[in-house]
Amino acid sequence: MALQCPECGAISHARSSFYEAPSIKRTYYQCKNLECSCTFTALESVDTIIARPNKVETKDETSSEQSEKSAHILGKYGAASRLSNRQQIPV
Ligand SMILES: [Zn+2]
Repeated sequence: MALQCPECGAISHARSSFYEAPSIKRTYYQCKNLECSCTFTALESVDTIIARPNKVETKDETSSEQSEKSAHILGKYGAASRLSNRQQIPV
């Protein structure tokens, strides 16, 4: 990024930047004109969102179907997965 120097009008280059908020960035600039060498900061922020990305909405029906499915799988080996008398863990 480059901006015009507010003192002499020469090109100034960004030296560092950080976010003050999720959509506001402060950038430190230094003038490339050696006789000026002005340093200043500038703020960059989101002004207008022109188009939002298409988000896939998850329906509640899908999540309830999944929970029923997992419950079915959990019960599949219910009786068969119990230990028989000779498989009991000794106390
Ligand atoms: Zn300058």
